Amino acid sequence: MDTKVLTRQPSKKQLNTPVKVAVAQGDGIGPEIMKATLRILEAAGANIEPEFIELGEKVYLSGNTSGIDANAWDAIRNNKIIFKAPITTPQGKGYKSLNVTLRKSLGLFANVRPVTALHPFVPTHFPNMDVVIIRENEEDLYAGIEHRQTQDVYQCLKLITRPGCERIVRYAFEYAKAFGRKKVTCMVKDNIMKITDGLFHTVFDEIAKEYPEIENDVQIIDIGSARLAAKPEQYDVIVTANLYGDIISDIAAEIGGSVGMCGSANIGKNVAMFEAIHGSAPDISGQGIANPSGLINAAVAMLAHIGQSEIGDKVKNAWLTTLEEGYHTADIYQEGISLKKVGAQEFANQVISNL
Ligand code: NAD
Repeated sequence: MDTKVLTRQPSKKQLNTPVKVAVAQGDGIGPEIMKATLRILEAAGANIEPEFIELGEKVYLSGNTSGIDANAWDAIRNNKIIFKAPITTPQGKGYKSLNVTLRKSLGLFANVRPVTALHPFVPTHFPNMDVVIIRENEEDLYAGIEHRQTQDVYQCLKLITRPGCERIVRYAFEYAKAFGRKKVTCMVKDNIMKITDGLFHTVFDEIAKEYPEIENDVQIIDIGSARLAAKPEQYDVIVTANLYGDIISDIAAEIGGSVGMCGSANIGKNVAMFEAIHGSAPDISGQGIANPSGLINAAVAMLAHIGQSEIGDKVKNAWLTTLEEGYHTADIYQEGISLKKVGAQEFANQVISNL
């Protein structure tokens, strides 16, 4: 799985001191997969110093509707790197999505979500799938402009800006260039939303001209997502608006094996946040059966970001070996392919023994 992200690398001097990371254990399966992942990072010799912060359900239920308190903000602003397990957003009015708050407040404009099939070790119908979805992370219907107009009419506004489009489209082409990818596909719905998605399309066409060595095309999101689900091997890098990116990356991850397999990087100018793409999975929480792979892949991306890619590669290789040996969590377990059904901690033990 390609987990590289475009980042600034630290100096040699910075490499010798442990990198302080704000770590949020999350809700639901969060603490289980975080424990598994931190054990692997420690065993691999990652030079990081976790500072644990409290986010999510506990903070919401204490009456803080933002889900994050002042101490956590301080730790994030000081450390500039966040490693976060999924959190639960309580149902009901008044609770703001903490994920959206973090991405917007910290200017985390690019969400990088790689999905690569690990055929034949992890069951999938799409052995040649290797796609990176680059999702705009601050605008669109996620901008939080939602209100009631009348008793029966509610409105959510779609916000698309030229600077926002330019930043994410350029990031996608720079990513393709840096990692030797051949094609960038833009997905929009500009046959209907001619002004907002139309702007995204226009900016894509403008910026694509600056990268003649990289193929480009534009697809309408409905047929684009249908083709992604049927022939994912046709895609290389996809750049798209916030909501579309959220949806198609879950589809891609699931058909690639499991939504539990993929990690993501949220990249901003000053801060970066690394997390699994999936949620807190309350339906399997507390059973110890969750797949920690998404968070492990997020950790590998984080290590590359902080200049510890050798350790990251070591972790990734041990993770791949573990999957190849057939130690599979329930979400990817299949008779005839898998050797043993394991929980998150046993999976981590096997990764550690393969380091
Ligand atoms: P989900 O991603 O938590 O779960 C969807 C399905 O996938 C469930 O059946 C679950 O068991 C399975 N699954 C997810 N991760 C898995 C893993 N690592 N191993 C094995 N199976 C896994 O989506 P949901 O149920 O819609 O959301 C639950 C909660 O998570 C909600 O409160 C939502 O707001 C939150 N959420 C948080 C984040 C985040 O923190 N970044 C992202 C998405 C959803």
